[in-house]
Amino acid sequence: MNMLARTREILGQLVAFPTVSSDSNLELIAYTADLLSDAGATLSLSRDDSGTKANLFATLGPAGDGGIVLSGHTDVVPADPSEWTSDPFTLTERGGRLYGRGTCDMKGFIAAALAMAPRFAEAGLARPLHFALTYDEEIGCFGARALMGEIANAGIRPSVAIIGEPTGMGVIEGHKGCYEYTTEFTGLEGHGSQPGKGVNAIEYATRYVSRLLDLGERLKARAPAGSRFDPPWTTVQVGRMAGGTARNVIAGACAVEWEMRPVTAGDAAFVKRDLNDYVDAVLLPAMRAVSPGCGIVTHVIGEVEGLQVVGESEAREIVCGLTGCDHADVVPFGTEAGLFQSAGISSIICGPGSIAQAHKPDEFIAIDQLAACLEMLDKLRLTLAE
Ligand SMILES: [Zn+2]
Repeated sequence: MNMLARTREILGQLVAFPTVSSDSNLELIAYTADLLSDAGATLSLSRDDSGTKANLFATLGPAGDGGIVLSGHTDVVPADPSEWTSDPFTLTERGGRLYGRGTCDMKGFIAAALAMAPRFAEAGLARPLHFALTYDEEIGCFGARALMGEIANAGIRPSVAIIGEPTGMGVIEGHKGCYEYTTEFTGLEGHGSQPGKGVNAIEYATRYVSRLLDLGERLKARAPAGSRFDPPWTTVQVGRMAGGTARNVIAGACAVEWEMRPVTAGDAAFVKRDLNDYVDAVLLPAMRAVSPGCGIVTHVIGEVEGLQVVGESEAREIVCGLTGCDHADVVPFGTEAGLFQSAGISSIICGPGSIAQAHKPDEFIAIDQLAACLEMLDKLRLTLAE
């Protein structure tokens, strides 16, 4: 069977596992583990605390340092079948495209890598080739974060990671971070006619949001010179705010869901420090002057590191060599690449399909994108062969 047909077959299987982030990915991991072990890979599986999700780290070729990681997340965003032309969890071909949840984000890349595994094994690899399949990327990159600790504990030090997020096979060398928070305000309920006797959680949440929006303006002036991001500065955004019970009751609780997309780690620290100072010096004293039980608590939902553009990059050199690209871009969306980079691994993003189709009904990958990905992987095989 040719590689493209094999890739489609595997992709059909992968799409049929409904690995929405909230659900288990264990069946998909078992399937991929079988394929990789059939190809002769050594496997290492690790589960999350709930036991319902797992990372798979597999190695072909020699053991040791200096390997190349092909990385993909196994989870997908939810799909509402009523918004889809065909069943989201049944791979369906129409007009040169393969439709299904996760086809471009990012089971297409995983399928191509798995299809190639036996070929890589036959090539006689001069350096290790690792497959990293992770869980929970879409909700905060928790799987990749755990994996970084696991491979460090195992003493494995890869030198390059290729993250196959959909880039239309273009080469992406940088993205912003994605830091997500929920800040909860606890006030004191009371009768609406006596606002001074209660502590209105909505009022304090509003003041907090105002401070955040002011910071958003100040961040514009902090954009690094030559920043290639769009927009070039760190952004903040409030996505959801909910609180109170009725018009004539002082709101006892309010929660604000907000995010920040830092272009530098320094910006993230700047925002956090300013908000903490504002809470400690202004908001909390005012709330607690009325009722000592009031509080403001910020929960970290996820802090996904950005991928910083670096001058010398082995990953960029290799992938540009494979794809023939003469430049690398930056993108506004976050990936696991920043985590790999923070772990000391030269990291780059390059994969089939378009991010424009990700997270939408009728997500698809063009078949010629899968073919282009296979071509890149085949060149990688020749590069790695002894
Ligand atoms: Zn993705």
